[in-house]
Amino acid sequence: VNSGGPHERCYDVVIAGASLAGCTAAILLARRGASVALVERRPQLDAYKVACTHFIQASATPTIRRLGLDRAIEAAGGVRNSFELWTRWGWIRPPYGRVHGPQPPYGYSIRRQTLDPLLRRLAVETPGVEAMLGRSVIGLEHGHDWARVRVRASSGREQELRARLAVGADGRDSAVARLARLPARRTVNGRFIYWAYYRRLALPGGTRARFWHLDPDVAYALPNDGGLTLLVVMPALTRLPEFKADRVEAFERLVGGLAEHPPLEDAERDSPLLGQVSVPNARRQPVSPGVALVGDAALACDPLPGVGCGWAMQSAEWLANSVGPSLRGESELERGLAAYAARHRAETAHDFGLIRLLSCAKPPRLSWRLLLAAAAHDEELAARLMAHWQRRVRLVDYLTPGTFARSAAVLGHAGLVRDRRSPRAGNASLVRDSTFP
Ligand SMILES: Cc1cc2nc3c(=O)[nH]c(=O)nc-3n(C[C@H](O)[C@H](O)[C@H](O)COP(=O)(O)OP(=O)(O)OC[C@H]3O[C@@H](n4cnc5c(N)ncnc54)[C@H](O)[C@@H]3O)c2cc1C
Repeated sequence: VNSGGPHERCYDVVIAGASLAGCTAAILLARRGASVALVERRPQLDAYKVACTHFIQASATPTIRRLGLDRAIEAAGGVRNSFELWTRWGWIRPPYGRVHGPQPPYGYSIRRQTLDPLLRRLAVETPGVEAMLGRSVIGLEHGHDWARVRVRASSGREQELRARLAVGADGRDSAVARLARLPARRTVNGRFIYWAYYRRLALPGGTRARFWHLDPDVAYALPNDGGLTLLVVMPALTRLPEFKADRVEAFERLVGGLAEHPPLEDAERDSPLLGQVSVPNARRQPVSPGVALVGDAALACDPLPGVGCGWAMQSAEWLANSVGPSLRGESELERGLAAYAARHRAETAHDFGLIRLLSCAKPPRLSWRLLLAAAAHDEELAARLMAHWQRRVRLVDYLTPGTFARSAAVLGHAGLVRDRRSPRAGNASLVRDSTFP
């Protein structure tokens, strides 16, 4: 394959970025017989993404299994995740045992410092993948069925890689997207994020995570590998001055004010408090002739719903499935790229619309409040909401007339039959009085 001179080599695919999306794409394309150059800016095999709270939704579990990564994750202490959600109408707790049997659908919670090296090792050991660590993509020319990618090593040495397809898996500020003139449509996130790891932080549900939907603030407690629990807050931007004044105190105050709050007094913080003030939503057209974008390069979301890691791996699999036959010469590459763009849109477009809306940190719309309030009163609706939240069910398949009809019936029933002074009637009466104007 590598018929070029010392400064020019040929592959089927050149991938920029060896993180979740890039490694997944490299493994799955190489298994389909493609020769892959995997170019990564950072030189260390065990480099990892720090700015991530790594709650990987259940939608990604089938991809993780196909990669053969599930066993490695579990051997490394990764937690099979599930969660319950606090709202002002009460806890939303799916009847995991009764609806799904003893093994409900799960994703994984595993620190990126554990996960990223596992996946990168799997990628570099896959026959057909040539890893080029410590090299950055700095140039790109492309057209139908061809791409020329310029890479530069930290020594300053440059090299040209030729391929039929260049893949941008290089994150939300993708150089490949910029070089291919695929601009991002960005929207501001109305929240910022802070997080820290804790030891000896016991949650009532054991390894079941907790989300608090405080409206507009959000908080999470996420059990992870290494016996660590990650506490995360996403306050509205209006609270930024409070965090700028004393972020540790503001963080602990917010956590301490949560309903059934995690017992910080018995726990020990195991990391500095980390944070990111600007986390905009960004979406790009994921293909151009001879070019495809996967992961955050195509779609970088608000971290609140925790979909980025899952979609990074899943989008890489959608790409491998779509262009695999083309790379074997069974169809034109452009047809494969068009199929990938259509799949990406079908899987993410509606969900991304809702994610963008909720990231404004404005009071949620009536329909969303209706769904949350009803799910707090009805196990079947709780199970449906969770299936969507885990991205096992797309938004369009969750927001059916049946879901709205059942929600309205549940709330009507709760409002009619419950005594307004009982704790649950308190929730229902909110519906009648002010919450649903
Ligand atoms: C604060 C925060 C919290 C988050 N929490 C969650 C969560 O709980 N759950 C969840 O699912 N998602 C979460 N996400 C999103 C998640 O981190 C990303 O969606 C995911 O990492 C995307 O993976 P990726 O492989 O597409 O990109 P990245 O992981 O960003 O990897 C890009 C790779 O490309 C390399 N690279 C960049 N430029 C070049 C270049 N020019 N040449 C070569 N290589 C290059 C980089 O070094 C890097 O290795 C969070 C994000 C943030 C910011």
